[in-house]
Amino acid sequence: MFNHSYRGRFAPSPTGPLHPGSLLAALGSWLLARHAQGEWGVRIEDVDPPRTVPGAIAGQLATLEAFGLRSDFPVVHQSQRDALYQAAIEQLLAQDLAFACHCSRSELASQHGVHHHCVAQAERATPAIRLRVAPGSVVRFQDGLRGAISQDVYAEVGDFVLRRADGCWAYQLAVVVDDHDQGITDVVRGADLLDSTPRQILLQQALGLPTPRYLHLPLLLDAHGRKLSKSSAATPVDAANPLPALQQAWRWLGQDPAALAPFTDVAEWLQHAARHFKPERLPPQDIAIAPLG
Ligand code: GLU
Repeated sequence: MFNHSYRGRFAPSPTGPLHPGSLLAALGSWLLARHAQGEWGVRIEDVDPPRTVPGAIAGQLATLEAFGLRSDFPVVHQSQRDALYQAAIEQLLAQDLAFACHCSRSELASQHGVHHHCVAQAERATPAIRLRVAPGSVVRFQDGLRGAISQDVYAEVGDFVLRRADGCWAYQLAVVVDDHDQGITDVVRGADLLDSTPRQILLQQALGLPTPRYLHLPLLLDAHGRKLSKSSAATPVDAANPLPALQQAWRWLGQDPAALAPFTDVAEWLQHAARHFKPERLPPQDIAIAPLG
């Protein structure tokens, strides 16, 4: 039934309830997957315990369920995948592509926060692990919406963290390992992650993994040009009344509201949304919206 050359995902971090920007990413990635007759799934990125909000995982999953966005394969929780991340780190350390780093944030401040070589004055009990980024590491990729993107990862980012000094896996490592392990072919997510993609591609290359296709959806910006989820205007979406939020997300995705006007049942609405969705209508720029309420 599914086209196995397309597998997408929505990967929320459980830092709070889903807001309109998260729904935009969830619905956008779901529509692109369905448009390609592909599979789509949910991954919970609970890799950062200090930032995990109690109850947020259950809340996000219940909200997705209420919105009819059901994972086609079992929901994965990053907190249960230490062995996979550990194996990736060991592979990189064995090949000297990663190294233990004792530098503190304040020591790196003198290097403008960019790590090119260790400047640590003292050893820590648990060092961080960083990927070695060679001079000239310029990553280029084609974004499905924004076109050609390039970043000099050496100059702009430097050696980046794979495991933090507090023992937590870095998002960059977990996302690369999981996207590969889950067979994700198409990463569709918010444009706030656009500047993480070159790091993820470099890490895929270091691990000998293929690079999926990438498409970064527009962000919702508040009246001050800030990402909506970071602002006080970010009200959670209402799981008790999904249709208005779905209709709003559909319009933000540049789609024709008239095509779905007759449908008031969520399952029916989604079925027709998948049919009427036109990827060429997706807006490539971020969307400024008036603060809600
Ligand atoms: N967990 C990330 C977030 O919520 C998204 C990761 C991704 O889609 O690659 O911002």
